Amino acid sequence: MRFNRLRLNGFKSFVDPTELVIHEGLTGVVGPNGCGKSNLLEALRWVMGENRPTAMRGGGMEDVIFAGAATRSARHFAEVALVMDNSDRLAPSGFNDADQLEIVRRITKDAGSAYKANGKDVRARDIQMLFADASTGAQSPALVRQGQISELINAKPKARRRILEEAAGISGLYQRRHEAELR
Ligand code: ATP
Ligand code: MG
Repeated sequence: MRFNRLRLNGFKSFVDPTELVIHEGLTGVVGPNGCGKSNLLEALRWVMGENRPTAMRGGGMEDVIFAGAATRSARHFAEVALVMDNSDRLAPSGFNDADQLEIVRRITKDAGSAYKANGKDVRARDIQMLFADASTGAQSPALVRQGQISELINAKPKARRRILEEAAGISGLYQRRHEAELR
């Protein structure tokens, strides 16, 4: 499934609706310090189900909502949409009803996050599993954060194993086994 578009609205510094079109091949995002390059990658991670505020460089998940600036007041929600190509119909069942798959995550102050897939309400876990199985998940090693290379080098063996499991595409299985053991 190819990523086609990323849309942001009220997410971190992207207070106005912004659309990033992802063409085939290599995409580079260039800009001065603090212009929002890392925020874009975090938006991608977030719409794929990231639930650790620290991965968003925040203290709480609501910190992803535009917090206001000198000339703009704060927003009360943030929304990110990821549009993927599904013309080969390889999306798992439940997500495979159209040639495009659009995942939307929205967080509202004091009301938490809600997800939609092609307009239908879905659970956070469904989204996390979708991307974990596709090995492109929010914590996937394919998304390399600033400073992550040195973290990998310094990681304890258990943490490094998790990263390798993600790379091998079996973290979805790992999660399901964990849930089965809890039952
Ligand atoms: P660098 O080149 O230094 O890595 P960058 O382009 O990656 O910079 P980001 O870290 O993506 O920049 O953006 C940081 C900016 O986003 C800061 O100006 C910060 O104030 C702003 N920002 C982060 N969270 C919010 C928020 N909730 N509301 C408003 N602005 C925010
Ligand atoms: Mg950055």
